[in-house]
Amino acid sequence: MRKSFTDLLKHSLQGKVVLVRVDFNTPIKDGQVTDNTRIKASLGTIQALTNQGAKVVLISHLNRPGGKVVEAQRLTPVKNDLQDLLGRPVMKLDEAIGPAVEKAIQALNDSDVLLLENIRFYREEEANDLDFSKTLASYADYFVQDAFGAVHRQHASTFGIAQCLPAFSGQLLDKELNYLTQVLRSPDRPLTAIIGGSKISSKFSVLENLLQTVDVMVLGGAMVYTLLKAKNEEVGTSLVELDLIDKATSFLDKVAALGKTLYLPEDHIAVTNFSDPNTAQTVDVLSPNQMGVDIGPKSISHIQMLIESSKTVFWNGPLGVFETPEYSKGTFSVAHSLANATQATTIVGGGDSIAAVNQAGVADQMNHISTGGGASLEFLEGKSLPGISVLS
Ligand code: ADP
Ligand code: MG
Repeated sequence: MRKSFTDLLKHSLQGKVVLVRVDFNTPIKDGQVTDNTRIKASLGTIQALTNQGAKVVLISHLNRPGGKVVEAQRLTPVKNDLQDLLGRPVMKLDEAIGPAVEKAIQALNDSDVLLLENIRFYREEEANDLDFSKTLASYADYFVQDAFGAVHRQHASTFGIAQCLPAFSGQLLDKELNYLTQVLRSPDRPLTAIIGGSKISSKFSVLENLLQTVDVMVLGGAMVYTLLKAKNEEVGTSLVELDLIDKATSFLDKVAALGKTLYLPEDHIAVTNFSDPNTAQTVDVLSPNQMGVDIGPKSISHIQMLIESSKTVFWNGPLGVFETPEYSKGTFSVAHSLANATQATTIVGGGDSIAAVNQAGVADQMNHISTGGGASLEFLEGKSLPGISVLS
């Protein structure tokens, strides 16, 4: 059994050093954090620890510096945001191991918060170097894993270190796992999964695993055209992964064999020239010279109805090319339908899907927005994630 954050809080943490792996991999522009969603998501964990008098030492990665110092990828901008959000001073070092770190940790007072430097400045991190993990562990009494976005990695700060210290999940990680486990194991039914995005190849494992648990599966986005092609329907110049037609056919067979409800869009926004939204038409079936860029109005209403009659809805993947305003209506309408769903628990995962929910301005009306893109998908594929299994 994984040791949860509640288990950790049963210990007396006053004066104890707790190393917390967070995911502060946030977008930064001109020295400023431009989206602090991930910082906010770990505040609960940090505050619960400082409330108990723990000395909190934070580890995070930022981008992919490739095992060396990259000035533009220091965590300093993150420190400034964290400090504002916490409403207490946060110390930040320019290293993550070494004498300066040791000294700073020894000087910490109860409830202080210290942020170490970007852990991926050290090549030992991604190599899951055991000595590196041991060095980090030597600074602390407990380890807390709260970086849901990084638990699919077997790195020193996501894996190795948990073998060197008493290790627990953080509040955010527990919340992520509660919601996603609910989708896979014990959803309030009916459970509807809405899956879109560009490439069916990147979502096939998720589709197949979710198919076992869902009552209704709604598909949208470009991946639909590979399935329609498998059904011998006209897909025009839409994005199709031809090498996946056979897999698509057997997926459709599996849906039928399991007796699940599959909803494919019944109309489309189709263009003859992708870069000219003036060529857009609403059609039920594409012409050979048209490309499908969004779901049409009938599909939007139908999906809304399916959402309203569900008790749990999981959404991953935009239903159209939402980056282009003229092709964004399907995605934003579904975001609003989820926000207005009265009886459903709503869970959203995936980088672009979250961006869409934020752009639609309805993020705080979802029950759960997963902070882990790749990690949430791997979890829903049914894979065991190293950073989580190591906590057991
Ligand atoms: P997520 O990050 O939420 O998992 P994906 O990365 O799988 O989502 O897919 C997002 C991308 O899918 C977006 O960039 C969007 O433009 C693209 N997309 C959605 N529908 C279509 C379509 N019909 N044709 C081409 N691209 C599409
Ligand atoms: Mg994406």
